[in-house]
Amino acid sequence: MRGLMMDRQLSIASILTYAATRHGEVEIVSRTVEGPIHRYTYADAARRTAKLAHALQALGAGPGNRVATLAWNTFRHFELYYAISGMGAVAHTINPRLHASQIAFIINHADDRFVFLDTTFVPLLESIAAQTPRVKAFVLMCEESALPPTSLPNALSYEALMAPHSSEFAWPDLDENTASSLCYTSGTTGDPKGVLYTHRSTVLHAFSSCMSETGRPFENNRALMPIVPMFHVNAWGLPYCAPMSGAKLVLPGALHDAEPLYDLLENECVTTAGAVPVIWQRLLTYLETTGKPLRSLTALRVGGSAAPAALIEAYERRGIEVVHGWGMTETSPVCTNGSIKGEHRAGAERLNYQLKAGRCMFGVDMKIVGEDGQTLPEDGASQGELLVRGPWVASAYYNDPAATAAFFTADGWFRTGDVATLDADGYLTIFDRSKDLIKSGGEWISSIDLENVAVGHPGVEEAAAIAIPDAEWAERPMLVVVRKAGSALDAAELNAYLAERVAKWWLPDEIRFIADMPHTATGKISKKTLRERYAQPATAAGI
Ligand code: AMP
Repeated sequence: MRGLMMDRQLSIASILTYAATRHGEVEIVSRTVEGPIHRYTYADAARRTAKLAHALQALGAGPGNRVATLAWNTFRHFELYYAISGMGAVAHTINPRLHASQIAFIINHADDRFVFLDTTFVPLLESIAAQTPRVKAFVLMCEESALPPTSLPNALSYEALMAPHSSEFAWPDLDENTASSLCYTSGTTGDPKGVLYTHRSTVLHAFSSCMSETGRPFENNRALMPIVPMFHVNAWGLPYCAPMSGAKLVLPGALHDAEPLYDLLENECVTTAGAVPVIWQRLLTYLETTGKPLRSLTALRVGGSAAPAALIEAYERRGIEVVHGWGMTETSPVCTNGSIKGEHRAGAERLNYQLKAGRCMFGVDMKIVGEDGQTLPEDGASQGELLVRGPWVASAYYNDPAATAAFFTADGWFRTGDVATLDADGYLTIFDRSKDLIKSGGEWISSIDLENVAVGHPGVEEAAAIAIPDAEWAERPMLVVVRKAGSALDAAELNAYLAERVAKWWLPDEIRFIADMPHTATGKISKKTLRERYAQPATAAGI
């Protein structure tokens, strides 16, 4: 028997329409790429988004066309999120930190017809424009008067493009399974792979994000700041979650240094912000060296890589709850949230639970499987590959049957490549990426655990453990470390510190101090680069 409820489709446009109608006065505040702060309201954003949708139609963008963005977190990028998806086209957010050849690859693979870019990225796109002949126009996200000289073919100004159009748009009633946006994985192995989100997956993900107990975005006077770039997995859903819940949205533009972030957090009274651990670490170092307080932030969201204990403890001492989540480009991304069960919130055990990668959310199914594919017990101890499924988890890669066959099981699960444990309460613990594990004498060493212990030393700013080839043990750990400013830490002292905290056979065979840690396009430590540099036989690497 079928139920008798309305078959209303979930749509991205409806989020902004709702925000403009029901809390149209709430602000979106951006640091512009040019520098000054821009502020307007959800009602203003809705009017400009309507103009932009008309402008896209006038350009020739139609349903299903891919429209690319190379842009920082600003109000214009927010407008593009809603206008492109809302009119039935696909917003393809490109990570500008990828290698230029990878960007050319994904523009062509996605068959992007239009590219919207911040002026910062003009030289980058000029360098590859000859390789992307199917792009019909490049729209620079600035006023006409600010258009820089460029060799890009058909370069237009964003503001001039939208200026003549009406501020009302009849958003089409789309099937909720219509493609809404496209994001490529950062491609640490092989070519980047495309994940094609839908209106339904995006809206359901935003609902679930809003439910996050500790984020509390439905309360009054909340302000959310996605520091995570809007070119990465829909900025963890926060640009949808804020208008849906009535929270003010604060967008930090192109600047990810600690000082400008601190100024925005304080001046705009941000209550929740989301970023990868390295950003939170930088901000912490800034707070410690300047002695400045954080007065409004009540919760910070951290994910993308493991948050070390020292980082969590330092923020908690400042009264800021650390919400540790796990996710991937393929999972929209959030599949766990850091809301800890009541009985685990107090006492000495609290930190142990916060160190885990959150608790499985409603809507997502998770399981751990062994090498033979058999499901392992959820006992917090049995380690295996994490498999997930759910309404905001990809069912295939875009136009990539080989990768789809490798990562999606015939019975409907996505293979994450993460080695993890689950416990009976749904807490997930990520042991490592399978390719980052260090196999020493047949036993596994978790690079994440080793790094977490190392960054607990007050002289360590960042640490990364990688496997180096070893004739006797197959692989042994090497620890690559960036010292905190002013620290004179040496290998002997760090080794002694580690020896008190990890098993003897986990101790790194070599500790190497470097000035700057290489990071991936999404701000994670680039172990690939470190392996290329250091995990070679001594002569080959020139060590
Ligand atoms: P991406 O698709 O670039 O967002 O990368 C997803 C990968 O980041 C996951 O497969 C994990 O290996 C890693 N990751 C994300 N969140 C966490 C976390 N909380 N702890 C450890 N690793 C994480």
